[in-house]
Amino acid sequence: MIKRTICQICKCDCGAIAEVENDKVVRIFGDRDDPNSMGKLCVKGRNYTKVLYHPNRIKKPLLNVGKRGSPEWKEISWEKALDIIAEKLLELKREGLEESLVFLHGPSARIVDRSVVKRFANIFGTPNVTGSWAYCVGSMVLASQLLLGFPYPICDFENSKLIVLWGANPAVSKVHRYGGVFEEIVKAKRKGAKVIVIDPRRSESAKIADIHIRVRPGSDIYLALGILNRLIKKELHNAEFVEKHVLGFEKLRREVEKYTPDFVEKKTDVPRELIEIAAELIGKVKPASIDFREGILHSINGFQTARAILSIAAITGNVDVKGGIIRNPSVKLNDITLKEPDKKPFWKDKFPLAKDGSAYLSEAILSDGYPVKVLIVFKSNPVLTLPNSKRFIEALERIELIVVHDIFLTATCKYADVVLPASTFLEKAEIDAVPLKKHRWVRVKRRVVNPVGEAKSEVEFVVALAKKLGYEKFFPYSSEEDVIRELLRGSEVEKYSVEELEKGVRLDNPIGEMRKSGFPTPSGKIELFPEILEKVGAQKFEILEEDSEEFPYYLITGARVLPFYHSQFRNVESLVKLNPEPIAEVGVEIARNEGISNGDFVEIETKFGNLKVKAAVNKDLHPLTVSVPHGWEESNANFLTGSVFDPLSGAPMYRGIKCNVRKVHESS
Ligand code: SF4
Repeated sequence: MIKRTICQICKCDCGAIAEVENDKVVRIFGDRDDPNSMGKLCVKGRNYTKVLYHPNRIKKPLLNVGKRGSPEWKEISWEKALDIIAEKLLELKREGLEESLVFLHGPSARIVDRSVVKRFANIFGTPNVTGSWAYCVGSMVLASQLLLGFPYPICDFENSKLIVLWGANPAVSKVHRYGGVFEEIVKAKRKGAKVIVIDPRRSESAKIADIHIRVRPGSDIYLALGILNRLIKKELHNAEFVEKHVLGFEKLRREVEKYTPDFVEKKTDVPRELIEIAAELIGKVKPASIDFREGILHSINGFQTARAILSIAAITGNVDVKGGIIRNPSVKLNDITLKEPDKKPFWKDKFPLAKDGSAYLSEAILSDGYPVKVLIVFKSNPVLTLPNSKRFIEALERIELIVVHDIFLTATCKYADVVLPASTFLEKAEIDAVPLKKHRWVRVKRRVVNPVGEAKSEVEFVVALAKKLGYEKFFPYSSEEDVIRELLRGSEVEKYSVEELEKGVRLDNPIGEMRKSGFPTPSGKIELFPEILEKVGAQKFEILEEDSEEFPYYLITGARVLPFYHSQFRNVESLVKLNPEPIAEVGVEIARNEGISNGDFVEIETKFGNLKVKAAVNKDLHPLTVSVPHGWEESNANFLTGSVFDPLSGAPMYRGIKCNVRKVHESS
């Protein structure tokens, strides 16, 4: 039997077809009828049956009867597990410490999961539901919302004449974000579009570029301001568009005055001639789309860099135009959350504009003394993926009850008291309405097969817990499909039947509307200096620098690879074969200075910690840079990162960290 579904490993939400025999998925392949992914599934999606039926999947709730860090697991019933959690939550309630309950979910949490967890948190009285916003693309979303009035700047590559990929590597990361994104770029290039890639590494995407700008890690803000300087000085901006649709141009002119090519070259290692060429192309070749992602957002200057890049797009008139940056308004669904409790989330004092703050959790506990007593983690592996793992593990020690709901026993489970078996995306229903795509597209996904063992979805777990606490009247749901019906009630897509929504419904998303009726900002124009930034003291492009003079090199962590999604899939043989071990890529100047050859072991040291890892010399990497992959438990890159954040979005600094590298023996 054939069942249409959606791959929800990453946020591309690609349309997929599952071949099912006797309630078992035997094969998954791409769905040609999905207008965004157009029949494509990446290697992770195609291999997902190996995850679904992996022998190590957690099948029953587990209680840690050993120590945190070196657990001994005892199988228990769901009933018993829920009793343990409910008893602790009732204790918090009695003590009036509702905010001491924190829910942390990973990027795989979707609309149904998030809505139901948030509803539970509202009823219980905790403001602390935190996800991947800040450590994913929060800086970009915040900058876009403030400047352009909408959160997700989408690129219409198909119609672009110039494509700039800035800290983005769509050849291996979220490959089908919109329209099989990399293929779309290749097609545009065949039609004559020029491609510029700005990245310290010659990434997979850089291999097809006309120009690769090998910027020094963490210095993208200088380059963006330098390009703005050239565009304005040489009058390459679109004066007509600026006049009609942009506020703050004159102020921007003054702000970028000092970012001359000579000054920017010193800060970025990008030759001044190349800065001039890039500015010239961006100013003259139209339409241009600029895609920027985690490569520039995971920095202490992530927000300001995103703001500067959006300013480039705005003053060249490349917003709300075919071939430029367009918007895909989120589909309006019924909001099933309730009144927010009158308590401050743990990140709010530090990052008042941020939507969440998972990466700050350890500092909230250890530095601010925020009273976190119960942590419930949904499909996330923060011990490996959040910055400063040492500090995070230290913070976990202060939490009285840690519960992890996941598919496998991850590095984070080792610190849990209770582990619960979770359903995969093939074992639960959801709605796909991801605004990261070019086409506005809504789909309802049904369960493809029943869950393995005693796995439960987020909805089933939360509803069962709600019953234990006496909240059943707020949770009249017996499955995800009940929640979906509630989300659809009175929504923008209410008029469609569930059958139609199961097939998928494409909604209108006209380009050029905002030019006619105004941008969704307070002024109706693109605001280069949004008023709210005045309140938080961030109107100027002030650049933060990490001063660690004793460390001569630059560290990047987290460069994306195709077979893995963050820390996932290191247990799937066919995917591990494609990327068998963690290897640090070392720039040629480091290799020369430190006598490093391919296959040597190196110790990398930052002011936050050190790590020993095998190295390979990469002549295409910025010469003073070392790039360490993330997500490996045996070689955790986050022992090198610290509690350093973008002050606006709270994005952690995973890249551009000063470091030292030295050759060591394998056994040392
Ligand atoms: S890009 Fe790959 S992992 Fe992401 S949703 Fe599509 S098939 Fe799944």
